[in-house]
Amino acid sequence: MPARHLLIALGWIAACGLDAGANAAPATPFIIESRQTISDLAPQADTASELTLRLSVANIDRWDESEVIAALRIAANLLAQCRIRVSRAELLQITVPDSHRHFDTPRSRELADALALPKPTLYFTAGTRQTPAFDAEAIGRGNSRSRPELTDTVWIARGARDLGLVIAHELVHVLMDSGAHDHTPGNLMAEDTAPQNTRLSAAQCARMRDTGTRNGLLRPGVD
Ligand SMILES: [Zn+2]
Repeated sequence: MPARHLLIALGWIAACGLDAGANAAPATPFIIESRQTISDLAPQADTASELTLRLSVANIDRWDESEVIAALRIAANLLAQCRIRVSRAELLQITVPDSHRHFDTPRSRELADALALPKPTLYFTAGTRQTPAFDAEAIGRGNSRSRPELTDTVWIARGARDLGLVIAHELVHVLMDSGAHDHTPGNLMAEDTAPQNTRLSAAQCARMRDTGTRNGLLRPGVD
């Protein structure tokens, strides 16, 4: 699988057909097996300028829960450098048909529409059926008008390396509503995520905070 990545705004313009309509199939069963709220992902900062972020996390391929939570902690600590605190994450274990375990635009739209989870939402999937195949994709607002179900979502394929970094990287794309990459040494938004790439610039933090707040994804104050 090629390096992970972004795909804000770009993507399936050509692939996105009229997949529903009068002949739509009956509702597909998606079963929420359990819900769990994690509220201690990152230490609370002692600053009035902190913004809070709540995540929905949908495990649709039986990922190991402890692996997911450990990665969320890493991501939360990375976002803390911009005074953004992941105040809580709701983890949902969801059973879906085999047809919906991968990221695949029409199927994933059905899933996201049926679940209607608060945004941003992270989906932990079996893989991707998109071409090109990325380890993770983030969908912002730029070009998602024709597929609003996927706005402000991240789709992570099983096998993605440096999972915590990947989560943080994709959330930055969503919060900034930008597919931009930054190849300054050590920057989290390098095109290829790597363990040594952890930092965000003041400009990246500012855009993330401004755009994320404007789009209702970040809230001021302590949660
Ligand atoms: Zn990226």
